[in-house]
Amino acid sequence: MPATIIDGKEVAARVRAEVARDVAAFRERTGQAPGLATILVGDDPASAVYVTNKRRACAEAGIIDFHQHLPGDASQDHVAAVIEDCNGNPEVSGILLQLPVPDGLNGKELTALIEADKDVDGLTHVSAGRLMQGAPGLRPCTPLGVLELLDAYSVPLEGAEAVVVGRSDLVGKPVAFLLLERNATVTMCHSRTRDLAGVCSRADVLVAAIGRAEMIGGEYVKPGAAVIDVGINRTENGLRGDVKFEGAAERAGLITPVPGGVGPMTIAMLLRNTVTAAQLQAGLQ
Ligand code: NAP
Repeated sequence: MPATIIDGKEVAARVRAEVARDVAAFRERTGQAPGLATILVGDDPASAVYVTNKRRACAEAGIIDFHQHLPGDASQDHVAAVIEDCNGNPEVSGILLQLPVPDGLNGKELTALIEADKDVDGLTHVSAGRLMQGAPGLRPCTPLGVLELLDAYSVPLEGAEAVVVGRSDLVGKPVAFLLLERNATVTMCHSRTRDLAGVCSRADVLVAAIGRAEMIGGEYVKPGAAVIDVGINRTENGLRGDVKFEGAAERAGLITPVPGGVGPMTIAMLLRNTVTAAQLQAGLQ
């Protein structure tokens, strides 16, 4: 039987509506709305679009916009000073440095400067350490979105065999730790994994975060599995995920489409993280 399609747009809309309610409640309680500082350096068109979309979503949720657009030739010290300024500004709940930064800047070093309780992308060393140790903190947005989708469709995680393909700091590793935190038995795969299809086909929950169009075919999928495709690949046939949708959907129980699956969740979880950050700073978490 073909899989049920996971509707990321619908789940993201629900999360965004919840965030808008939480923003209003926070403002009522503290007299001030949460604020997000997006920092864009340079004029990369794709980055500019991402930042515009994030700012628009914030405005819709009632989050205050503290956007900073710096010139492409801004120095490392200049960007660092802007981040430190945001760290010290009590009206800024969350800080997002749009990556990649222009050549000549060190994005990792700059990201590391973000105060952990304002790290709404969840990418600083402190946030990664908190996640690994199961301590409260802000988690990366796309991985949070993956878990939100699994929960929205009541996918059992405790004791489940979960396989994550991809081990990036941005997606693969945090997804694996979030699944582990939920008591799944987690296997992480990467480019050196032997018999990838064999490992994947044991998975009750299969997450693909590879960046290779349609690499995961139906033969990788255990019948009835939940398949979450994080991949976004621009091909001559349009946008494709890392999963070959048609074959995989024949065997899976649940599957995300691309687009319309994980994609819409990332911004929704950024908004939620901004509210969480504001609550943390106000001592309400
Ligand atoms: P990345 O940093 O390039 O990591 C890719 C991972 O895939 C690496 O760990 C790599 O293994 C592994 N890999 C590559 N080829 C493989 C193969 N043949 N077999 C098994 N594993 C293989 O990518 P990323 O940042 O995690 O992103 C992954 C995908 O998700 C991309 O398509 C990206 O556009 C998409 N993405 C989507 C969203 C969203 O909002 N939906 C957000 C972020 C990313 P090694 O470590 O061994 O090299």
